[in-house]
Amino acid sequence: MAEPVRISDIYLYLRCPRLVYFQAMGRRVWPEAANLSNLLMREVALSLSEFEPEGGADLEAFLRESLERAKFELPTIFRDEINPADLLAAAEAVGEVVGDLGSKLSPNLGLLSPSEVDLELRSDRLGLSGRVDRVVSRGKGDGTKGRELIPSMIKTDRPPENGVWRSDRLRLTGYAILLEDRMNLRIDRGLVEYPWAGEVREVELRSSDRRRVLRIRDRVRAINGGKLPDRPRDAPCTGCPVLDSCETRATLASKFF
Ligand code: SF4
Repeated sequence: MAEPVRISDIYLYLRCPRLVYFQAMGRRVWPEAANLSNLLMREVALSLSEFEPEGGADLEAFLRESLERAKFELPTIFRDEINPADLLAAAEAVGEVVGDLGSKLSPNLGLLSPSEVDLELRSDRLGLSGRVDRVVSRGKGDGTKGRELIPSMIKTDRPPENGVWRSDRLRLTGYAILLEDRMNLRIDRGLVEYPWAGEVREVELRSSDRRRVLRIRDRVRAINGGKLPDRPRDAPCTGCPVLDSCETRATLASKFF
């Protein structure tokens, strides 16, 4: 059986279908090197699932503790060579906004808990898999009856003026489809967390998005099988790490057609 298509590949397809092709060929396709302050901020945001506001716990102190722990654990989590001076500078950058973050996030905490983080999901039936940042559980009861599950993703870029980006909505839809398959319930909404801005945005997941995710899954499968997709007219080619190879492919193709 073929490996399921990762939800992150659907996201990559939305950026540019050709990136999926080059990734399948073993090329590095994400342009940005991992940004340490974003990695630290993500760990701090994930830790909110452990915050218990009852009893007057101090959110800012909790976030600062999370940041200290993330600073210590990051080299182990990512197993990369991390320059200690760079890590310190990144922690200082996150530390500068933590106080602000605490006051902005306080009213939104109810949206994020109780929750589980870093959940790996897979459905061989649907041919999809992925790791969702957080799944929030709302409602009462032990079983799925009367409960609502809400997938949530953490974004370390800036939020759009209103709502969420379409590609993020589709990615959340992918996680929702996988969660529904595992839990046998319906999921109609998702969340996007923007920790740098201290915002959490809720988004409705539409039937048309479910259809779109499944069609993209089929296209990603075909690309992984060797099909070279067309270059989209609006592809984000500036700074693309596979630009040279991609232009060569276009030249070769135009020789034959
Ligand atoms: S160079 Fe442009 S078309 Fe080619 S893979 Fe990169 S973004 Fe896509």
